[in-house]
Amino acid sequence: MTTKTIVLAGGGHAHALLLHQLIRKPLPGAQVVMVSPDRYTPYSGMLPGLIAGQYQPNEMHINLSELCRLSGCEFVQGHAVKLDADNAILSIDGGRGFHYDWLSINTGSLPQSPAGFEQSDRGMTVIGVKPVKQFLSWLDDLEVQLPVLPSFALGVLGLGAAGTEVVLALEHRLCQRFPGVSLHLVGAGGLLSGHPLAVQQYAREHLTARHIKLHENVQASLVPGGLQSGQGKTIFLNAVVLCTSARPDGWLRNSGLALDEQGFVSVDNALRSRSHPNVFAAGDMATLVSQPHPKSGVYAVRHAAVLDVNLRHLLMGKRAIDYKPQRQSLALLNMADGRAIGSRGAVTVAGRWVWHWKHWLDQRFMKQFPRGFER
Ligand SMILES: Cc1cc2nc3c(=O)[nH]c(=O)nc-3n(C[C@H](O)[C@H](O)[C@H](O)COP(=O)(O)OP(=O)(O)OC[C@H]3O[C@@H](n4cnc5c(N)ncnc54)[C@H](O)[C@@H]3O)c2cc1C
Repeated sequence: MTTKTIVLAGGGHAHALLLHQLIRKPLPGAQVVMVSPDRYTPYSGMLPGLIAGQYQPNEMHINLSELCRLSGCEFVQGHAVKLDADNAILSIDGGRGFHYDWLSINTGSLPQSPAGFEQSDRGMTVIGVKPVKQFLSWLDDLEVQLPVLPSFALGVLGLGAAGTEVVLALEHRLCQRFPGVSLHLVGAGGLLSGHPLAVQQYAREHLTARHIKLHENVQASLVPGGLQSGQGKTIFLNAVVLCTSARPDGWLRNSGLALDEQGFVSVDNALRSRSHPNVFAAGDMATLVSQPHPKSGVYAVRHAAVLDVNLRHLLMGKRAIDYKPQRQSLALLNMADGRAIGSRGAVTVAGRWVWHWKHWLDQRFMKQFPRGFER
C-alpha cells in the first residue's frame, strides 16, 4: 500500500480535535502534515474571559506543535498563501509547496471590514478581534498608553454574541482602572437579534448598568476619527474593534476551488469540496451548500468527527459519511462580571451558576489538549 499524504491547512477547532483523535487512533497508511502560522491556536469561547482577566493566555491556547508531535504528524510553521487545486499543490509563505493526496482546510475566518475601511487616513485605530494574537498585542499596548490619556473612546462594531461579550469584557478590564475610557457598541440591526428576547433584555440591562452606549440600527462606515451612520451622524472614537460577521481571508480566491459568494469553500454533506473531492473544508471556512448553518465554534467542533471518519473511510476505500448539522445549539455568553447568559431554543437561563457552567464546559474542552502561548 502506498502512503498517502494528507495536508491540514490551519489548526482551527476541527483540526485540533482531529489531531487529538489521531493520538488515540492513528490513520494507517497516511502521512499527515499540518501547516499553521502559529504553534498555538486560540479557543475563542474563552477569549472574552481572557480579555476580562478571568483567564491567562496559556489557558485558552491549544499547543498545535505538541499535538502534532503526540499524534505523529509533521508540524510546519507557515501561512497557506496559495492553492492550486487542479494540481493538488498547497504553497506557504516562503515558497515551500506541498503536494497532497487529500487536503483539509480549517483556516477560520476574519471579521468583515465596514465601508470606508480602504481609506488610509482613518484618524483612529481599527483592529479586528481576529487574528486573536494581533488583537491581544494591541490591547496590551493600549494599556501602556491609557495612563497618560485623559480620555479614550473605544467602539466595538458588531451586535452579535462576539461584539456583546467583547465590549463587556473590555469594560471589566479597562473602565475601573482608567476612568477616561468610554465604550460604545455599534451595529446594523438590533442587539443579539436571532437570540431569544430574554437574552437580549438581560444583555441590554448589563450594557446600561455598566455605562456602555448602545447604537443599534447603525449601518456604520468608517470616517476619519469615527464611525458614521447612514443618516450622517458621527460617533467619534479613538479606536474601533471589529466583531462583525465572518469573512474568509481571501487566500483561496484563485485556487480553482468552488467557493460560495463570500469566498468560503462550498462543501457537500461529507464536507468535501463540490469541485475537488480530494479537498475537505471544516469550521468557518466551510459552507454546507445543502444546509448552510451559522459560522460558529460549535459547528467546527462537530465537523471534526465527520472529518476523522471520512479520512479513514477514504484510506480504506469506503464511502464517506454525511454530516448532519444540529438544529439548535447552546449559546453561552460571558457577561465578564462573574455571570453568564445561556440559551438553547426558547429556553434562557442567567446568573453566576451559568458562568460556572460555561467555565466547566470550557475547561473540559481545553483539558483534551496540550496548552501554551507565546507572544
Ligand atoms: C470573541 C468571540 C467569541 C466567540 N465565542 C464563541 C463561542 O462561545 N461559541 C462558539 O461556538 N463560537 C464562538 N465564536 C466563533 C468562533 O470563534 C469561530 O466560529 C471558530 O473559531 C471557528 O473555528 P475554526 O475551526 O473555523 O477556526 P479557528 O478556530 O478560528 O482557527 C483557525 C486557525 O487557522 C489559522 N490560519 C488562519 N489563516 C491561515 C492560513 N492562511 N494558513 C494556515 N493557517 C491559517 C489560524 O491561525 C487559526 O489557528 C466566537 C468568536 C469570537 C470573535
